[in-house]
Amino acid sequence: MANSDNTYDIIIVGAGIAGCALAHGLATITSAARPRPLKIALLERSLVEPDRIVGELLQPGGCAALRKLGMSDCLENIGAIPVRGYCVVNEGKQVHIPYPDGLEGRSFHHGRFIQSLRAKAAKATGVDVIEATVAELIIADGTNRVHGVRATRKGKEVKENFYGALVLISDGCFSNFRAEVMGEAFQKPLTRSHFVGAILKDVQLPIDKHGTVALVKGSGPVLMYQIGDHDTRILIDVKTPLPSDLKEYILDKVVPELPSNLQPAIKDALELERLRRMPNSFLPPVEQGEGGMTVAFNDVVILTDLLRSVQDLDDWECISQILHAWHWSRKPLGSTINILSIALYDLFGAEDEDLDVLRVGCFNWVCLFALFAFYSVPTLTIVVIPTRISPFRQHLIPPGPSLPAFLRGRLLLDLGHVHAPTPDHVRRETRTRTPAPRRVPLARRAQCAGVLDGLRCLWSPALE
Ligand SMILES: Cc1cc2nc3c(=O)[nH]c(=O)nc-3n(C[C@H](O)[C@H](O)[C@H](O)COP(=O)(O)OP(=O)(O)OC[C@H]3O[C@@H](n4cnc5c(N)ncnc54)[C@H](O)[C@@H]3O)c2cc1C
Repeated sequence: MANSDNTYDIIIVGAGIAGCALAHGLATITSAARPRPLKIALLERSLVEPDRIVGELLQPGGCAALRKLGMSDCLENIGAIPVRGYCVVNEGKQVHIPYPDGLEGRSFHHGRFIQSLRAKAAKATGVDVIEATVAELIIADGTNRVHGVRATRKGKEVKENFYGALVLISDGCFSNFRAEVMGEAFQKPLTRSHFVGAILKDVQLPIDKHGTVALVKGSGPVLMYQIGDHDTRILIDVKTPLPSDLKEYILDKVVPELPSNLQPAIKDALELERLRRMPNSFLPPVEQGEGGMTVAFNDVVILTDLLRSVQDLDDWECISQILHAWHWSRKPLGSTINILSIALYDLFGAEDEDLDVLRVGCFNWVCLFALFAFYSVPTLTIVVIPTRISPFRQHLIPPGPSLPAFLRGRLLLDLGHVHAPTPDHVRRETRTRTPAPRRVPLARRAQCAGVLDGLRCLWSPALE
């Protein structure tokens, strides 16, 4: 490896949610195996405060993971609002689903949170935050080992080499490196809908300090949560292909189904604001979404803990075993939540008549027995854990009739026009399950610990 000022123990690409947490987590791990702090380069293409419609509600489990990483102060002084649960609205009816045990999440402007995470990472001993765009991975001649990246610093034209024993890529959902690193295991993200986002001014949500999920017949769900004293984020799920006149579609099809007191502010926002959109992708094996940051922080907690005992970051055998352990440690919760979140999205975003019967059935079940625990609203929607399925049922609200039994009753009543639903979501999850790192080209003896987003799966925040 070249001996230059650009030589580090670890290189992290992308100072977003995962990258900042990784930099701080790895810089602060201490153990007998590590006599000096790691030298870490955190490379980010733009250090300007981002203005995005993503990553604005951190579930309680994400807050807990931040605490474990010693970063919970990043939620202070950014005007964050406590979140105590959800309110689900359907055809004028609403149901209150508080987080269990008084747990709280936080919602905020994404950009302010990112700046706070970056400032925290930059203060950690051994971390250099460098504004540079990474263009390519450096692979050592004759081997498959990634031992650095080529990047262009802001304002410069020439590419520089940055070397590291370990290269961690956390460059987000539009990653330039996922395909290269994952090789045959790579799958193109499947975009099923878009979130269209705007900010509502000075509105009162149905339940204060709670996220609102409004189910809209024939369209995807609408999410709303307060992100500042005067600002409430609205995310409207619109199926692909997007209608040619998006604004008109939302005004005609979505707004009339939302609580009437919110409609004037929504119309104002549609009129005055530039509508922003983000694809809601199924990025195997994970739905991106509102559990995304929680998953990322928990991934970092597990990975930093596993790397604590590594003496030699150049020892691929050891790193490979750690990646394998990491992969499986994050799996049990992730798979459970993933399958259920996809199922629920399909249900709550249902367009066809048959699934609509199920959707109403589910909503009524929640209203009647409050057996669901809405721990996370994935990209799309709501993670729901029926008591009989989840291995984590001790965290759920006490049992009543099971959802399957309730739905069976409802299906029998509606038998005239209901066919059993095909569990597409389960098949998709099975088909796209990420192979363990040993089996993907990621492990082609490259010192590259994965494209984090690609290995991520939804995580239930309150299950810790
Ligand atoms: C519409 C929508 C809403 C969402 N809302 C929520 C929510 O409320 N709560 C939640 O928990 N999750 C939410 N998510 C998911 C959440 O946004 C992601 O899980 C999270 O941002 C992923 O973090 P990351 O660090 O992988 O990527 P990012 O946060 O996107 O960070 C990637 C970073 O890499 C940098 N970068 C990219 N390429 C390069 C390069 N070549 N060189 C250098 N730097 C580079 C980028 O500038 C960026 O700073 C939402 C997702 C979507 C799509």
